[in-house]
Amino acid sequence: MTSTNSTRSAVVIGAGQTGVTAALGLLDAGFEVTLYSDRDQRALRDDVPATGTALEFGETQQAEAALGLDTYTARAPRHTGLSVRIAGPEREELIAFDGHFEGYAGVAVDTRLKADERLTSFQGRGGRFVVEQVTPERLDSLAAAADLTLVATGRGGLSELFEVDPARSPYAAPQRSLLTVTVTGLGHDESVFAHRSRAGGAHSGFSIFADQGEGWWGPYLHKDAGPSWAFLGWARPGSEWEKRFAAADSAESALGIVRGLYRDYIDWDLPEVESARVITEDPHSWLKGAVRPVVRSGVGHTAGGHVVASLGDTSAAYDPIAGQGAQSGLIQAQRLVAAAAVHDGPFDERWISEQYRAFLAARGDAANRVTRLFLGDPEFADIGGQLFAAAAVQPRFASALVGLLHRPQPFLGVDSLAAAGDFITEVTGEDAAEVLARFQPAGRFERSAFNASLASA
Ligand SMILES: Cc1cc2nc3c(=O)[nH]c(=O)nc-3n(C[C@H](O)[C@H](O)[C@H](O)COP(=O)(O)OP(=O)(O)OC[C@H]3O[C@@H](n4cnc5c(N)ncnc54)[C@H](O)[C@@H]3O)c2cc1C
Repeated sequence: MTSTNSTRSAVVIGAGQTGVTAALGLLDAGFEVTLYSDRDQRALRDDVPATGTALEFGETQQAEAALGLDTYTARAPRHTGLSVRIAGPEREELIAFDGHFEGYAGVAVDTRLKADERLTSFQGRGGRFVVEQVTPERLDSLAAAADLTLVATGRGGLSELFEVDPARSPYAAPQRSLLTVTVTGLGHDESVFAHRSRAGGAHSGFSIFADQGEGWWGPYLHKDAGPSWAFLGWARPGSEWEKRFAAADSAESALGIVRGLYRDYIDWDLPEVESARVITEDPHSWLKGAVRPVVRSGVGHTAGGHVVASLGDTSAAYDPIAGQGAQSGLIQAQRLVAAAAVHDGPFDERWISEQYRAFLAARGDAANRVTRLFLGDPEFADIGGQLFAAAAVQPRFASALVGLLHRPQPFLGVDSLAAAGDFITEVTGEDAAEVLARFQPAGRFERSAFNASLASA
């Protein structure tokens, strides 16, 4: 034995939910841990928007549970499925299905709440929390003194220290403009979104417009308002939706834009959307922007040649369309902690690279591929057409397709129309061609008959 657990030191830069999770995990694994943040704890909770919706499913919850952390499944409203509706370029109502999550549930927890609670535990258990904006020069001296240095500063921050992996980063620019707002005023019982699913407000609702973008509503746990709802919208470059999203400058205006969108395009969900209210105690309950999907190297070098590991959004930025970013970061954090706990040697370039390679093979590559499928990447357009049509006629396949958000791995091998057919056959036990032959355009989606005053009576 060259060292004992109690003498090893780790530095984590960035106190978003991924950095805090890794810091707490390393502390519990016997490391002496210092966590650096450019904001103090109160500011992390109250002065910034949540990084994203951060919907996560069973495999990610298991990673958190393996670290001994709360998964929030007892506190957050649960997602038990996803209802999908797809309209064509002429707004023709084409595909509708309601996929149930089989054997797992989703929760979308305010990243600020999760980071805040984990930060309190971290400090309570003896972790050192330092408020400081870490520069590349400062990182050099921190990495020189620590056995293991993790950089979890999000998509911006110190991410430039890690080279973009061109083979895994096919997009030169963001594929969508994003608008998100979390709201209150809407419950989660069967009367909500009942036109989409018998599960009502336990299923989130996704609407896809071929030429404009996508809109999604899902149950959410907000740091102040508690059980609530999140809207997340994606606008294609050059679309009318993109112009509308760009005009948002407050939670009120964001919700107004969303209402207008549902009135003009997605009227089947309009009554629910109209009953939503802004969360007045949180001026940061909304966000707009865009994410260029990129995968970076797992290893970076400081000016003095010390090795540091990337983590979370610093390793990979995902467009949120398939909900992979937070899930990926938490799984990566848990794997790193578990490997570090039993490693009896230096945390050198070789060790960090090996952990990252294994993480990409186990999760990261599949997460990226599924994101490209849901983005409608031309490379997967025909495959996607088959999979979504099969979901519309076969409930078991609808579950499998929405299950890719939970475990993207089955999609890794689907690289041709023949492989897509094999996937359909494997899940349904039926010949794929027979399944697809039953597909017919939806015609007209059922509209909501939701009555807010009756629901709250
Ligand atoms: C609109 C939207 C919706 C999303 N929805 C989902 C979803 O449904 N499911 C899912 O899995 N993922 C989703 N994501 C992705 C998810 O939100 C992120 O992957 C995750 O929250 C990133 O966490 P992080 O801790 O890695 O980074 P961040 O949350 O960005 O944390 C980084 C922290 O580092 C700090 N920092 C930066 N630079 C420095 C410095 N130099 N020194 C010290 N501190 C620094 C920052 O201030 C910040 O506090 C979504 C993303 C977006 C944008």
